[in-house]
Amino acid sequence: MNLGQGGIPCPHCNTKIPTSMQELVTASKIVCPICRLELWINKSESQKAIDAMNKVLEAQNNLEKASRFDGTRR
Ligand SMILES: [Zn+2]
Repeated sequence: MNLGQGGIPCPHCNTKIPTSMQELVTASKIVCPICRLELWINKSESQKAIDAMNKVLEAQNNLEKASRFDGTRR
C-alpha cells in the first residue's frame, strides 16, 4: 500500500481520499467521497505497516503521558 501525504488516490476516479495512517489502522474500509468506491483495507497485507504505526502511536501516547505527568508534578 503506497500512502501519499494525508491521503491515498482513489483507483477509480483518482481523487485523493483524505485519510490518515491512524484511520487506516482503525477503520476496515475507506470510502471515496466522489465516486463512493469502497476501499477495503487488507489488514494482513498491511500488518507490518500497522504494527510500525502502532509502535509510533504508542510512543506518542507515552510521550504525552510523560509530558502531562511532568506538568502536574511541578
Ligand atoms: Zn473515487
